[in-house]
Amino acid sequence: MNGKIDKDLLTHLINEVNSMVTEEIKIMEVCGTHTQMIAKLGLKTLLSSKIKLLSGPGCPVCVTEEKYIDRAIEILNKYDVTLATFGDLIKVRGSKVSLQEEKSRGKDVRIVYSPLDLIDMAEKNRGKQIVFLGVGFETTAPIIALAIKTAYDRGIDNLYFLTSIKLMSPVLHYIMKEANSQIHGLICPGHVATVKGSDYFKFINREYLIPAAVCGFEAIDIVGGIYYLVKQITQKRENAFQNLYKRCVSSQGNINANMLLDEVFDILDGEWRGIGNIEKSSLQINKKYARFDALNLFVVENQDVKVSMNCECKDILLGKKTPEECKLFMMGCNPRSPQGPCMVSTEGACAIAHRYGGGS
Ligand code: SF4
Repeated sequence: MNGKIDKDLLTHLINEVNSMVTEEIKIMEVCGTHTQMIAKLGLKTLLSSKIKLLSGPGCPVCVTEEKYIDRAIEILNKYDVTLATFGDLIKVRGSKVSLQEEKSRGKDVRIVYSPLDLIDMAEKNRGKQIVFLGVGFETTAPIIALAIKTAYDRGIDNLYFLTSIKLMSPVLHYIMKEANSQIHGLICPGHVATVKGSDYFKFINREYLIPAAVCGFEAIDIVGGIYYLVKQITQKRENAFQNLYKRCVSSQGNINANMLLDEVFDILDGEWRGIGNIEKSSLQINKKYARFDALNLFVVENQDVKVSMNCECKDILLGKKTPEECKLFMMGCNPRSPQGPCMVSTEGACAIAHRYGGGS
């Protein structure tokens, strides 16, 4: 498809969507990359104001609990370790400070781009204990699982994992059931579907009677997905479900990646920043690989942290508000001085809204 046809098709689909809408329609997208493309295209201003596009809890850094960051900082301060992490996480505050602040005080905090780099780091620094902060969703979980399994297979004994890996389907159940039953359609996260398969998201229309579509990340994928959803919603086809990302997503997903997840992790309850505990929503290192679990070696106080959040990330993660509806947005909260995790991560809804602007 060339640029001109692409642009013409996008314009045509947007016009079609706008002509179909007669009353307010709320569509949630869950993936930060979708949020970014929506903002980049300026869809919130191109589409009818009756269509509300809401971001969900798909930014891994945004949903990582304060207690987790506090534990990482406690390990860093109590033990002689190297802490390795993905870049975005370094800026997120726990209940008091961020890893970045600790690094600027001379603590050994390093950024890695793949958990597999850790294997190299651990093998070259046998005298050093390395702790990796493994956060993310089903998308990054297989590569973390592979790093743990590789460390096991190679007999590496100086590498540990402090994990906070979340599952997408339990949080979507939570949103639909308890937090926000006002959503009319869902753009399912294409990245998670690549691993778990499109069938993983079929429960959305089966149980909650709203249309859902697995979408890719090109402009035409997103606009096509919105067109599909609005058409189903306006024609009252509640049980519609489509995998619109078949070039990358099969119905069953990546079998090898899922076998790896089953091999290394158990599914247990999980703590979500701003949301709280959600049943069976996290992946935890299982018994076979327990010696790689940092919490089995490093003793940290298991205190519950009461954090006063002046920001409204919780409502944004649950799709109840847009960033522009937070009174601190651009008025004291910006990427240089973030007041909440949604402004810290490049995948956070507030940071994206700040970067691209656009209406609510
Ligand atoms: Fe929180 Fe800032 Fe977003 Fe408001 S704009 S919800 S304060 S991160």
